[in-house]
Amino acid sequence: MKTEKAAKRTIDTSNSERLFKRASACMPGGVNSPVRSWRGVGGSPRLVASARGARITDVDDNEYVDYIGSWGPMLLGHAHPVVIEAIRRVSAAGVSFGASTELEIELAEQVCGRFESIDKLRLVTSGTEATMSAIRLARAATGRDEIVKFAGCYHGHSDGLLVRAGSGATTLGVPDSPGVPVAIGSLTRIADFNDLTSLRAACGSQTAAVIVEPVAGNMGVVPPEPGFLKGVIEIAHECGALVIFDEVISGFRLGPAGYQGVAGLRPDLTCLGKIIGGGLPVGAYGGRAALMDQVAPAGGVYQAGTLAGNPLAVAAGLATLEAADAPGFYQRLDGLGARLADGFARVLAPRSGCVQRAGSLVTLFFGPAQVRNYDDALLTDTEAYAGFFRSLLSEGIWAPPSQFEAWFVSAAHTEEDIDRTIDAAQRALRQLPGPS
Ligand SMILES: *Cc1c(COP(=O)(O)O)cnc(C)c1O
Repeated sequence: MKTEKAAKRTIDTSNSERLFKRASACMPGGVNSPVRSWRGVGGSPRLVASARGARITDVDDNEYVDYIGSWGPMLLGHAHPVVIEAIRRVSAAGVSFGASTELEIELAEQVCGRFESIDKLRLVTSGTEATMSAIRLARAATGRDEIVKFAGCYHGHSDGLLVRAGSGATTLGVPDSPGVPVAIGSLTRIADFNDLTSLRAACGSQTAAVIVEPVAGNMGVVPPEPGFLKGVIEIAHECGALVIFDEVISGFRLGPAGYQGVAGLRPDLTCLGKIIGGGLPVGAYGGRAALMDQVAPAGGVYQAGTLAGNPLAVAAGLATLEAADAPGFYQRLDGLGARLADGFARVLAPRSGCVQRAGSLVTLFFGPAQVRNYDDALLTDTEAYAGFFRSLLSEGIWAPPSQFEAWFVSAAHTEEDIDRTIDAAQRALRQLPGPS
C-alpha cells in the first residue's frame, strides 16, 4: 500500500497543468467540449500527446490504458494502420472540394447495405447535426412541431434537444441551458426511459417524432428492457409520429447494423456519427427513400454542409467499417466488454452499486442496485466515482471523467489490459471509504 501511494506522488503532471492554465486563458473552461475539463471528478485535466491502439499518452509522457476512445469513434483503437493509411492516401489527392466524390457514395452504399431501415443517407459533419436534421425532416413529413425525447438521453446540443425531464413524466420541457428559447424547449416533451406509460402520456396529436438512444449511453449505460423499443415504435406510430433511433454511439459498435440490427427493429429514421467517421468529423441520417427524398435538393427540407461528406472523414469511416467486417469482430469485442463488466461486478460486490453493459459499452454505477432510467442514474454516488477515477488514473487507467459516461472498449484492448484494469479497480475500491 505504502509503495503504491509513493508511486502515485511521483507522477509528473506539470506539462498538463501548465497547458491547461494556458488553455483556460483563451478557451472557455480551457476546453472545446465540457466533459474534457474533468469538472465531474475534480482536478486539472491531463492533456493528450498521442495515442496508439488501446494506449493513450499524456503531455508528461504518462501512459494509460484508454477507455474513452474519443467517446466512441475509436472502435479499432487509436491510429489503426488501415485508418491512418486511408487518410494519408486520400489526403494526397486534396482534402475538400465542395463537390461530390466517389468515396462518399461508397460510404452511403456501405451503410444502406447494412441497415435494413436505411434506403438513403445524408452525410453531415457531427452527431448534433444528424439529430437536428432528422428532426427537421420528421417535422416536415408529419406537419407537426412537437417532439418527444427520453430523460437522460443525449442527442447533441441543438436547442430543442437540450431538454431533459422535470419531475413529472409529462412535464413540458424546460431547457437545460440558458440561451435555449423557452418557446423551443416547450416543443420538447419528456418521457422516462424504459417506461412506456410515460411515453403514452407524452405523445399526442402534435408529436412529429419520438427520438431515442436505443441503448442509452449518456447517463451511463442503460440497456432497453425487453419490449421497450418495440413499444416505443408502436406508441409513436399509433399517434402518427415517426421514430428516430439515435445510434450515434451504438451504430457499428453493437453490431454492423447498430442496435436495431441486433434487436430486429426498424425505426423510420436513424442517426449515425462517431464510428462512421473513424475519428474524423462525420454524422449521418437516413431512412426509407420516400422520407429521405423530402430532403433538399430532392425535396424542400433544407439542409446543407460545406464539409459534409469530407473525403478524409469518409475514407477513415470506410476503413473502420471494413475492418469491423472481419469474421468474429463483434464477438471478440463483446467478449472483452463482458470480461470487463464481469470483473467490475466481482470487485464491486461488497459495496452497493451495479455494473451495466451493452456489448463493448460498460458502466460501473456507485449506489443503486439497478439503473433503469435517468432518475435512477441521478441517485448514484458521484463522489465515490470521482475517488475511483483518481485512483485508477494513478494506476495508469484512463477512465471516463464522469459517472454518467460509458467506458468504451476497443478491438485493440487485450484480455491482459482488461485484467490489469480489474485489478486496479479492486485496489481503487479498497481505497474508497465504506466497505472494501
Ligand atoms: C455524441 C452523441 C451525439 C452528438 O454527436 P456530436 O458529434 O458530438 O455532435 C448525439 N447522440 C448521441 C447518442 C451521442 O452519443
